[in-house]
Amino acid sequence: LTLALARERAEGECRTALVPETAKKFSALGARLRMEQSAGAQSHFLDTDYAEVDFAPGLPEAYASADLILRVTPPSLDEVAAMPEGAVLIGLLKPFESRERLAALNARKITAFALELLPRISRAQSMDALSSQGACSGYQCGLIAAARCTKFFPMLTTAAGTIRPARVLVIGAGVAGLQAIATCKRLGAMVEAYDVRAAAKEQIESLGAKFVDTGVSADGSGGYARELTAEEKAAQAERLTKAIAAADVVISTAAIPGKRAPVIITRDMVGRMKYGAIIVDMAAESGGNCELTQPGEHVIANDVNIHGPLNLPSRMPTHASELYAKNLYNFLSPWIKDGELRIDWDDEVVAGTVLCRDGATVHTAVRQILG
Ligand code: NAD
Repeated sequence: LTLALARERAEGECRTALVPETAKKFSALGARLRMEQSAGAQSHFLDTDYAEVDFAPGLPEAYASADLILRVTPPSLDEVAAMPEGAVLIGLLKPFESRERLAALNARKITAFALELLPRISRAQSMDALSSQGACSGYQCGLIAAARCTKFFPMLTTAAGTIRPARVLVIGAGVAGLQAIATCKRLGAMVEAYDVRAAAKEQIESLGAKFVDTGVSADGSGGYARELTAEEKAAQAERLTKAIAAADVVISTAAIPGKRAPVIITRDMVGRMKYGAIIVDMAAESGGNCELTQPGEHVIANDVNIHGPLNLPSRMPTHASELYAKNLYNFLSPWIKDGELRIDWDDEVVAGTVLCRDGATVHTAVRQILG
């Protein structure tokens, strides 16, 4: 089994899918490792840290004899063309994004695993890249908010008088939202949070934050939220408007898998916010939770600063890569024995994550949406 890694070429991507620790572990399972020079450099792993790896000067040479290709981002069409026919590919492949990419993968009979599709069952937690990267994103949102806030996060008692802590509202308390709550709490802010899933209340409170109750509960399938009805949206908006108006910082992370992010913070709500308040909209990548968010930009409306940061895990590439690489190792290692890849296609986690196989797109939800 030859496992290959090339440098990530997507703009702004600093993560890598193989770190020295997982390279050692794959090698111990009998895999040969081949890597493009400096492929770990953006995450601050040097070639000399990868003792078990053979280096190739470029991507074509790294991929040339690959059986298994590890990636963070989806390959470009040229990168797919450089993959050997029949190779296995794993990464965060944005499975719903591009028909063209699926066609290219199928034309080369690539077996592709998209980690976004991984079933979120207990057994698969150690492989869950959305969770590991979501934790990085939530942490980064807390730091962006604290760095941009014109107030202290903690309460301060000084000789000049006492400073009240900043008020933070986190909307969407999934993996990323909970990490944002924890980060803002550690910095001393007064944190409130809201989510439509019933289970979120207890999780929010266990972090010492206050749950904002809007009376709307919308649990969907697979432990995710479902889209709200028009009446539910109105009920939510009424209660949230007050909480948003009282906040110095709003961090929003609400998402529905495979759909545009729900718009929760309207233009009107921004108009009622405090002057100088901050919104960090983590959902910017999928359209934004705030009506005024511009993905990748910082906009100011009514003296409110609205940040729509993209690819937050890439801002802390060393730890984001370490966690991601471990997710990949945990997914793949059960199927590598004596240096060979033998995948059990009946395994629930494998079957749920496979996107393309034998020249066809096999994932039901992706086929339904992309045809
Ligand atoms: P996500 O990124 O899809 O969504 C983020 C959050 O937004 C979710 O908590 C969702 O409920 C919330 N949301 C959606 N619409 C909303 C709205 N209109 N208003 C407010 N909030 C809204 O979700 P995620 O963070 O990836 O995870 C979702 C759930 O799956 C969590 O409960 C998490 O604990 C669970 N999970 C389970 C496993 C596992 O068992 N293997 C792994 C990871 C996550």
